[in-house]
This record gives sequence, structure tokens and C-alpha cells, in this order.
Amino acid sequence: MSSPDTDGRPLRVCLVSAEVAPFAKTGGLADVTAALARYLSRARHDARVVMPMYRRVREGFESKPVTGLQDLELELGGRGWYFSVSKLALPRSGATVYAVRCPELYERPGIYTQDADEALRFAFLSRAALRIAQQLGWAVDVFHCNDWHTGVLPLYLKAHYAWDKLFERTRTALTIHNIGYQGVFGESVLASLGLDQDRKLLLQEDLQAGHVNLLKTGLLYADAITTVSRTYAREIQTPELGMGLEKILTERAEDLVGIVNGVDYGDWNPRTDPDLPVRYSFRDMAGKQECKKHLCSRLHLEYDPGAPLLGFVSRLTAQKGFELCYEVLPKLLGELDIRVAVLGSGEPRYEGFFTELGKRFPGRAAYDRGYKEDLSHQIEAGADVFVMPSRYEPCGLNQMYSLKYGTPPIVRRTGGLADTVQQWDPTTREGTGFLFGEFTTSALYDTLRFALRCWEDEESWKVLQRNGMTQDFSWDVQGLQYVELYRRLIVR
Ligand code: ADP
Repeated sequence: MSSPDTDGRPLRVCLVSAEVAPFAKTGGLADVTAALARYLSRARHDARVVMPMYRRVREGFESKPVTGLQDLELELGGRGWYFSVSKLALPRSGATVYAVRCPELYERPGIYTQDADEALRFAFLSRAALRIAQQLGWAVDVFHCNDWHTGVLPLYLKAHYAWDKLFERTRTALTIHNIGYQGVFGESVLASLGLDQDRKLLLQEDLQAGHVNLLKTGLLYADAITTVSRTYAREIQTPELGMGLEKILTERAEDLVGIVNGVDYGDWNPRTDPDLPVRYSFRDMAGKQECKKHLCSRLHLEYDPGAPLLGFVSRLTAQKGFELCYEVLPKLLGELDIRVAVLGSGEPRYEGFFTELGKRFPGRAAYDRGYKEDLSHQIEAGADVFVMPSRYEPCGLNQMYSLKYGTPPIVRRTGGLADTVQQWDPTTREGTGFLFGEFTTSALYDTLRFALRCWEDEESWKVLQRNGMTQDFSWDVQGLQYVELYRRLIVR
């Protein structure tokens, strides 16, 4: 389906991002960039994505050098750099993805590094995006930046490219996918970013404290700021969840909007999902039981249709709230005949906990420490409930996937989780999942117990599943809000 956005001309949108699925992904940022590019291109806008050619992208995907974008020189931080651009084919889309090839910066084992030039690696990406547009004579309407990595682009545009008539009407938008990552570096990096002469344009209090905050810099200069749910847009204006940026966000509240992420149902639909052993839909749920059986066998869990299976797929970081599980999961496993399937990697304390859990309850709790796209789909499908006890959650994608897979989510009422899951009421049979407010062990425990009681009532559980499976978080709904934002920006 294409967009109902018919007013006005097609827009020229350059999405600049450190991650784009399937080429380079650590989390939701990658999914969102790819899906938004797909949506825009489907709606006949000229959407192009600029990302780094990491080693894993060069090795893992075919790409074609772009004529006219080879051996470009870029002056940054007092030295000349050369880069070339290759085009990657975004699956199921006509959108163009430009990968910036600069081996000195991007030929490293990971996407992110702890290396001394980390700020430069991504500032370079911003500069490369601007340079690419110039080289192509592409009068971009909106540079859409994402997270701290490209937070410095709006400043570059204003301070270093204002002379170029090509960008006379160009605007910038910056999306905060997660305010927990701000790109804070010692102020000595400024020289390498070519910003030594622009110190007066940066926040003086940060410079005096000896650092520069690249996300904050973006918040100062982007024409529009977005974040990935309405609730999170409110929450980041408070000291509890603003992580030090609440003041500047409150000052810019008029330019801040929350647009909940869409789901790419081309990738996430149990009716068509190639990663599932058997496919299903809400009209015919038989396949879901097969998916549970298959998942149990893959993870060496004892399969029992009468034992509910709790699924988890996540980065294992403090944000995701897994310390609430320390007490709750062993307790539940002790009390009830349940199964637990966990996929995720991250901080050693959580990995250690889940590893131990698997050892303590063999055949009933399983933990896979890998990053496995296919297994993440199989858990969404094979689990009976999906658990996300997040401390904070800008949007969250997994709860929306789980709704589509007939796996009601159990989530903390925060950020995008609060915006996308409605509390199930067995009396009215309305709602799509289970929410708890307090970040406490007992709140999670009580909610899980309640959900598992509801699961026993097969008839009404089917209604709950159906309610979730018929929700529509597709980009056809969400993408239009970005287009409307872009249009508001360019008429200013
Ligand atoms: P975040 O961006 O904070 O990590 P989201 O819920 O927005 O959280 O997005 C997480 C995305 O990453 C989802 O697509 C999820 O399936 C995926 N993911 C996270 N951990 C893993 C893993 N270990 N293996 C496969 N996919 C994972």
C-alpha cells in the first residue's frame, strides 16, 4: 500500500544513520532507518540513506561503486581524507543506500568502538553525507539525523555549508532513539572534528567542564527534534528520564514531537515469516503450537502444550530492567510448570544470571547468548507471552512484533510500551497485553501471575491474541507523520 500523502511534490530526504538493517544492526535504530527509507521510497519520495561501509557490511553484502562518488576528498580536522561511495541494495525497496567507504575509519571489527577516534568516525559520516549531496547537486529538503552519531550534522550545515546555495532551503531533523547514549567526548576531539574555530557555537558550560556532547549539540541546531513515542517525548523533558538533557528539551518543546516507530510487517508477520517452521495467522493459529514445539526442541526445553512459555529477546543492558527477573523467574519456575526462553547479549551480570538460570532449571529455562535474527522470530512466535520489564523504553519494537505474533506482551508502563500496549481486561475482553507501573519485583511478579492465570482461559486468551494481532503499527500509518513533519519544516 502506498501513502495517502498526495499534497505537494515528492520530497528529497537524506537519512543519515550509523545503523541500517540488514547491513549493520545492534538495535531498533537499524530497523527504523531501513523501514522509514522503504516507506518514503514507496510513497514516491526521493529517499536516500547514508551509512558507513563497516568491514562487516563490505564482507557481508554486495555493493556497487557509484559513478561520480569515487575518491572524493574531504578536509576535516586539518587533514585531507578520501572516501568513495558504493550503493547497497535495500531488500524489498527502491530506496538508495549509500555506504561511505573510508577504510581508515570503518574497517574495524565492530560497528561501535572504544577507540580514540570514535567521535571522528561518525562526524565524518555527517560530513560525507553533506559532501555527497554537493557532489550530486542534490538539493536535499531534509537531512534526517539519528542519535548522537549524526547529531553534529546540523551544526556543520549551519557553520560550514551555509555558503552553498544548494542548501539554501535545506532543513534538519534529529531523532532521539535513545537518550541514554549521548556521545560525550573530551573537548580535545573538537580539533579532529574541524570544530575548533566554532567553540562559540557550542555549549559553553560543557566546554568549561572539559567535554562536548554531540547529541546535545544536535538538539541545539536541528530544526526539528523527534523521538520515538509520545510518552517518551514527555518523559525526556523530566529529570528522571531526561538524562541531563531535560532543560534543553523543555526549551525546545515546541520543536519536539513523538512519533511512534512503525513495524515492518514485510519482515515481521507470522503469515509470511520464512524463519518460522510453520506459518500461521489469527484465522488459523494451529501453526503457533508447532512453532512452540520447534522452539523448545531448538533450545532443549521440555515441550508441553500445558506449560506456558515466557519469551525474552533483548540487549542485556540496565535500561531493559532485567534485575527484576533475578527474584521473579526462579520463584515462578519454582512454583509453576513454565518454560523460559531468553535470547540476548550484553552486560556480564545479566548474562551470568540467565546462564545460571538455565543450569538451575535444565529443560525449563534456556538462554542463548548470541545475536540470532532467526531465533528472535522463533521466540516471538513460539512463546505464549513476551516479557519486557524495561526501566525506560523510548519505543521498543519487540512488544509490537509480539502483538502481531499472537504473543501478548507483559511490559512496564513506560515510553513506547505505554503507547502501544493496552491493559487486558478479562471482563470487557478489551486490551492487548499486561502492564505494570512500579519498577519493583513484586509488580512484575503479580503481573506475570495474573497473565498466566488469564492464559488458562483459552477462549478469552484467543480474544486477547486477536486484539493484538489486528493492531496496525505499519509504516503506512507512522511514516506519514514524518512526511507531514518534513513538509512543515520546508515551508518555514
Ligand atoms: P533497542 O533498540 O533498545 O535494542 P528495540 O526493541 O527498539 O530495542 O529493538 C530491538 C531490536 O533488536 C529488535 O528487532 C530485536 O528483535 C533485536 N534484537 C535484540 N537483541 C537481539 C538478539 N540477541 N538477537 C536477535 N535480535 C535481537
